[in-house]
Amino acid sequence: MPRTDIDWAQLGFGFSDVNCHIRSVWKDGKWSEFEFVKEPTITMHIGASCLHYGQECFEGIKAFRQKSGRIVLFRPDQNALRMEKTAIRTVMPPMPPERFVEACRLVVAANEEFVPPYGTGGSLYLRPLLIGTGPQIGVAPAKEYTFMIMVMPVGAYYKGGLMPVRAVILDDWDRAAPHGMGDVKVGGNYAASLFAHEKAKRDGWPVELYLDAKTHTYVEEFSTSNFLAITRDGTYVTPDSHSVLPSVTNMSLKTVAADLGWPVECRPVPYTEIRQFAEVAACGTAVVVTPVWEITRGEEVIRISSPDVVGEHLQRLYETVQAIQYGEIEDRHGWCCEVSV
Ligand SMILES: *Cc1c(COP(=O)(O)O)cnc(C)c1O
Repeated sequence: MPRTDIDWAQLGFGFSDVNCHIRSVWKDGKWSEFEFVKEPTITMHIGASCLHYGQECFEGIKAFRQKSGRIVLFRPDQNALRMEKTAIRTVMPPMPPERFVEACRLVVAANEEFVPPYGTGGSLYLRPLLIGTGPQIGVAPAKEYTFMIMVMPVGAYYKGGLMPVRAVILDDWDRAAPHGMGDVKVGGNYAASLFAHEKAKRDGWPVELYLDAKTHTYVEEFSTSNFLAITRDGTYVTPDSHSVLPSVTNMSLKTVAADLGWPVECRPVPYTEIRQFAEVAACGTAVVVTPVWEITRGEEVIRISSPDVVGEHLQRLYETVQAIQYGEIEDRHGWCCEVSV
């Protein structure tokens, strides 16, 4: 049962103490058995490759307490496959996908009382990490790796329903090169975007949108979430690019849109097309959908809607995904993965 000494309604998005995290170490060609670790700290060699050469990747997943009382993880198999791909790209040994999902189940079960009660809009956020922990000073992959999953209870991002935001395009900085690491989930992509992000925030824009690094003519994605738009005739459009991170949320929203009978297009999206869209949003695990009502680029300001209006398509997508996650409607595609406690 959920803890009674936590004010679930006030929960934000930040670290808090839980029972344990889970860990496995790769050495001599194999992963160790999973073990639970109580301390929220880790000890590693000062020469660890994650510290010097950025051998690091991560994932973000949520577990929900559903209407029926059961606890489920939302599509952890997709995160497992994505981390496998990222691991290969950064020359780290992948955690086999079935074992990745097993670790998610184990760590959620071990922290069952931190999964927020149904009806509070909260969830247990899982942050799987894979890092090079073996010392490596000559540039080469390390010989030892650590896989961990940190968990923390988080509240509903929007306490009072969806909140549209303004976005900015800053042409002086790129996030990911055409054949770089934009399509894998490495911490370095966030380091690459932090400077522009802080500048955008200081100047009054909560999110920045990136165009393709080579030509700055096509839309790619926001710094930590994918770009999606709804055209005036109700088509779901999202950019197709090698330097965009394949978002599990976007993948799910595309399927929900198709289920609702809306056309779905994954294709290059020219910057000049933005002004024709009826609705624009950022999407990702943390918030599901963030409507964007205005996009600024230099002197040009593109107004998509008024600041207090959430488009009906975005509202519908958001409600449908949440209803699947909380077990309020049928899970037609088998996205919810049960955790036995
Ligand atoms: C994690 C991430 C997303 C969102 O992916 P989800 O699987 O939907 O959470 C989008 N863009 C970037 C750059 C990311 O790192």
